[in-house]
Amino acid sequence: MKQYQAYIDGQWVDPASGQWFETENPFTGQPWAKIPRCNTEDAERAIKAAWQAFDKGPWSKFTASQRGAMLRKLGDLIAEKAEHLADIEVRDNGKLKAEMYAQTQYMPQWFYYFGGLADKIEGAVIPVDKPGFFNFTRHEPYGVVTIITPWNSPLLLVAWKLAPALAAGNTVIIKPSEFTSASALEMMDLVEQAGFPKGVVNVVTGFGHEVGSALVEHPKVARVAFTGGEIGGIKVAEAAARGLKPVSLELGGKSPNIIFEDANIDNAVRGAVSGIFAATGQTCLAGSRLLVHESVHDEVVEKLLALAKTAQMGDPMQATTQVGPVTTRPQYEKILSYIDVAKGEGANCVLGGSAASRPECGEGWFVEPTIFTGVTNQMRIAQEEVFGPVLSIIKFKDDDEAVELANDVLYGLAAGVWTQSINRAIDISARIRAGTVWVNAYRVVSYMSPFGGYKRSGLGRENGQAMIYEYLQTKSVWINT
Ligand code: NAD
Repeated sequence: MKQYQAYIDGQWVDPASGQWFETENPFTGQPWAKIPRCNTEDAERAIKAAWQAFDKGPWSKFTASQRGAMLRKLGDLIAEKAEHLADIEVRDNGKLKAEMYAQTQYMPQWFYYFGGLADKIEGAVIPVDKPGFFNFTRHEPYGVVTIITPWNSPLLLVAWKLAPALAAGNTVIIKPSEFTSASALEMMDLVEQAGFPKGVVNVVTGFGHEVGSALVEHPKVARVAFTGGEIGGIKVAEAAARGLKPVSLELGGKSPNIIFEDANIDNAVRGAVSGIFAATGQTCLAGSRLLVHESVHDEVVEKLLALAKTAQMGDPMQATTQVGPVTTRPQYEKILSYIDVAKGEGANCVLGGSAASRPECGEGWFVEPTIFTGVTNQMRIAQEEVFGPVLSIIKFKDDDEAVELANDVLYGLAAGVWTQSINRAIDISARIRAGTVWVNAYRVVSYMSPFGGYKRSGLGRENGQAMIYEYLQTKSVWINT
């Protein structure tokens, strides 16, 4: 079984604890690699290396153009290794090869885009109202940035943070999810090949409470970027607040996908199916609540069932598979328990509703694509993030009720609106309290377009030009002339 090492100060090192833990393949349910169980000693070492690289190392002397070139080189290397990285992700995470390969092939764009922005960070000359003074601004990196990521899109969510943080001139410590650490470690070979000086990028693996918290609390860590669940997010935000350091949080969702009576129903149904069943529903932006106008409800349900029933489950490496396993055993159990909750609440299970026992699913952690009708927005199944292939269908009678239902959750990450009316599209997208609204589409993201949550779905944004300033602080320089 492959045994990984942590990557600290440009070196592959064993964890200070001398301990490793196993990471499992969700399709087989079997361990396939050993991951270092790092602790506060490793965190300390990585922070020291990252601080030295930032403060005194060659990285601090790089011009912005040199940083940009190095990021673009890393993008090229990721493009060359995209299939290898996708294979690692599939083994560790269980998502479909097609989806993971699409992600790793797209990932270089973050490094090209933010690499391109590195030397376009410009300060300003301010025409100050103080005679005899010349005043200008500089945008400067924070220093050491900690990046903490979840298991559902392991490497992509690292790329979203790593590229702008490095482009801005920071140094970085990555703490990937304990369930899916392998791909971030594998990427360090490419970081090395791209020529990043030692200490600029480090990967420290292990558990959130053992090593993640140390990487947030340490006084030399100046900024934290977190993607994950609400409980972890709150702990990280509290620790960041105690240290008075900026933190960005990308958290969960309970996103509505709204089908109006004037929608192209076939397209809307395809969007609803991929919105919830792609990635086995394990995406923060899953369209887990399907709000349907009462006049098209029965037609939508019929077409949805016809399409969802054909979903091929099985080996995520196979091109024909459409729904793969759940990434972790605890998540598999959590999804099944939510299905029981929904049944207990009186929701009507019209598809699935159990673990999958199809022969092609082997010993993996599979849940049948599940659809509930007759859901009301007060039910727990409509309010809480399940993070699995479970769709709740809720009827509405007019636009006001659709908006009311859409907004009546604690989350506000994303929403889908299906209509052929441009006026309705503009009106409804303005009234929905979510960071992203798709009209006649679902699950489209780009490195160029801001992404993030309203309400309890997070703080701050990722992607887009403005992102680079999230990793910079502004200094005002006054010269007495
Ligand atoms: P999680 O919060 O359990 O773990 C996320 C990361 O935080 C892991 O690396 C974990 O080790 C670390 N962590 C946990 N507690 C910590 C602590 N006290 N201090 C420091 N680090 C700590 O989340 P998960 O189960 O891995 O991921 C699923 C969640 O992520 C879902 O809620 C999903 O919606 C969310 N998510 C959000 C987005 C987004 O962009 N909004 C994207 C993907 C996933």
